[in-house]
Amino acid sequence: MTHMLPETYLDYSDILIKPKMGNNLNSRKDVTLTREFKFKHGQIRKGLGVFNANMATVGNFAIAKQLLKHGLFATLHKHYTNQEIINFYKQCQAENIPTENLFLTIGIKDGTAEVNKLKEIKSLGWKDEFNICIDAPNFYIPKALETLKMARAEFPNSVIMCGNIASGDICLKLLEYADCLKVGIGSGSVCRTRAQTGCGTPMVSLILECADIAHSVGGHICADGGIVEIGDICKAFALNSDFVMIGGMFAGSDEAEGEVVERHYQSSELENGTCRIITKKFKEYYGMSSTYANNKFAGGMSNYKTSEGREVLIPYTGSMEKIIQDIRGGIASACTYMGASCVKYMSKCATVIKVNHQLNTIFERYEK
Ligand code: 5GP
Repeated sequence: MTHMLPETYLDYSDILIKPKMGNNLNSRKDVTLTREFKFKHGQIRKGLGVFNANMATVGNFAIAKQLLKHGLFATLHKHYTNQEIINFYKQCQAENIPTENLFLTIGIKDGTAEVNKLKEIKSLGWKDEFNICIDAPNFYIPKALETLKMARAEFPNSVIMCGNIASGDICLKLLEYADCLKVGIGSGSVCRTRAQTGCGTPMVSLILECADIAHSVGGHICADGGIVEIGDICKAFALNSDFVMIGGMFAGSDEAEGEVVERHYQSSELENGTCRIITKKFKEYYGMSSTYANNKFAGGMSNYKTSEGREVLIPYTGSMEKIIQDIRGGIASACTYMGASCVKYMSKCATVIKVNHQLNTIFERYEK
């Protein structure tokens, strides 16, 4: 019989963090944004728990470098060659850019080949233990767990993050081998999974469900997809997610893959009886399951598959440095509203409220 859960599952736009009396911090400068992560399989990492998505557009060297430089976490997408990855690693070392928070991505298509790829990178000159991100749109399939087991057997001291999943029932099984679970199916800005399959779980309820289970055994979670505003990162942390993963918010940056594209529009306002031509800048962003990505990386879309990703032109947003600064500023400010002296305490201090109306966007279309 079909099982229908009685409660309404919530997304970021359904909630707000209620400001309240707390630690009496006088300034956002006093907030500690760096957190120590003690992972289940023994490793310790430090940083602000924000990752770029391991997508071809934003899981690139230029974005990873900026994130690592500023004390955040980074993934590299799985389409780089081993030599390219090693060259990047050596370049970071030469430029004093720390690589402890960098995760290398593998897929699950052929577990042995994927793990061999990591072994080869190591043999090419990667000196430290590296962190691994095992990525599959659907981590429920048996091949995913097999790949995870192989990776853990080969790299017992690596931090391993894997996903994606969208329910609590699978968490304990995966955390026997993994350190961190990537949660979120169908929430991404260029994702068409919910439209094409009717499957997915809203992020707020999903984070609460998975964080509770993962933390009970010393595991971590990473909320992946659906970050629309910086406030959503704050909400994810307040809900007890250890990390967030971001695609769209980084995809319009200078450092994202692809050229800036200009489009010209006729203004609707008349000036001296004429319309102005307005030029706007955009960058291309596409889902890893889009037809475009399948053509580019998998030699075309297989006939048993349907595209579950979108291809879009999104507004150009400038440098990653500025975006990172905005993220840090937003999180620090959220901490002062909540009375949390550091990111780690956000979940301890948070009172989260369900709302019918989240943002006032009345003047949004007049933005200069
Ligand atoms: P965003 O930050 O843009 O909202 O979401 C990024 C996340 O969307 C990625 O980390 C990944 O989990 C997910 N994603 C990326 N490409 C696709 C796709 O083609 N289809 C689906 N369903 N999800 C995608």
